[in-house]
Amino acid sequence: MAHVTLPRDILPRDGRFGCGPAKIRPEQVAALSGPGSILLGTSHRQSPVKSLVGQVRSGLSDLLRLPKGYEIILGNGGSTAFWDAAAFGLIEKRSQNLVFGEFGGKFGAAASAPWLEAPDIRKAEPGSSIAAEAVEGIDVYAWPHNETSTGVAAPVRRVAGDDGALTVIDATSAAGGIDFSVSQCDVYYFAPQKNLGSDGGIWFAAVSPAAIERIERVAASGRYIPEFLSLKNALDNSRLNQTLNTPAVSTLYLLDKQLEWILSNGGLQWAADRTAESSSALYEWAEASEHATPFVADPADRSPVVVTIDFDDTVDAAAVAKSLRGNGIVDTEPYRKLGRNQLRVATFVSIEPEDVRQLIKCIDYTIERL
Ligand SMILES: *Cc1c(COP(=O)(O)O)cnc(C)c1O
Repeated sequence: MAHVTLPRDILPRDGRFGCGPAKIRPEQVAALSGPGSILLGTSHRQSPVKSLVGQVRSGLSDLLRLPKGYEIILGNGGSTAFWDAAAFGLIEKRSQNLVFGEFGGKFGAAASAPWLEAPDIRKAEPGSSIAAEAVEGIDVYAWPHNETSTGVAAPVRRVAGDDGALTVIDATSAAGGIDFSVSQCDVYYFAPQKNLGSDGGIWFAAVSPAAIERIERVAASGRYIPEFLSLKNALDNSRLNQTLNTPAVSTLYLLDKQLEWILSNGGLQWAADRTAESSSALYEWAEASEHATPFVADPADRSPVVVTIDFDDTVDAAAVAKSLRGNGIVDTEPYRKLGRNQLRVATFVSIEPEDVRQLIKCIDYTIERL
């Protein structure tokens, strides 16, 4: 089927609306091929790359307004690797995992490791959220700040559980796009290919003093922990501004440029205002539309960074996404396993609110003519 050709004057300037990997601003790429290029292909054990790692750690500390005693640690492998690292080195006996979509579920699966007690997995219907509940014997409470597969955001709020229980937040798609208080959790971990406008394959975590103490204690407990997944190893290496094995230098550089951009514009509050402006435009349009409705029914659960829009039977959302793609507007398809007649649009901080308003015109234009 041929796509509907969109008039030039309604096209967004940048057609990348995917939830990850997500838009990387052209200015970052230009900096990488300009001043950044002298770092590429040089040793990560020498001072230029180590100071880049140091700069990224300090930029993240500023962005997240880290309280005294919190540190930024990093390791290779992305958020998926962090789940296994947490099963080895952060969960002492048993975790509670909130599942309101695919990613929360994946951490729950990783926490079902044979050396741990079976996790307390609490599921919400896709499109809604669920709150943690203190249970005796739980030492890690975990949920995503933003569930990217469904577009549900959940507050970061410490659980009043047993003394020493840690609150561990998957912020892969939230970090840098949603304002919050990091003192409300012990671990805030993410990979930078979403709001943070870089590439994947690496994870970062803001860790509290209690989390550091836990990492040290589990590492000293005699439990078998593979080197690559050792949080203690990551902690020690991070303090020296390095990683166990070779990181992607370009990823670090792109991230550094994104942090510089967000911080120079006003930091997390500015970023959150911008993602709220973009996402509200979409939610308001869907609510007013004849054929569309926000998938997330409760406005309090709606993500400001990942907007999911359901369509009625008169619209074939897959055909709309395909037609948009024919015009260079990419990655508006829903999360593959959700299986809904839906469009999913990222409204990450790099995405211009004006481009989101143009996208809405493009969707309307396509629906009318398809
Ligand atoms: C994208 C995403 C992940 C997976 O990140 P990887 O770096 O690909 O492992 C995990 N959690 C959330 C909430 C995500 O959005």
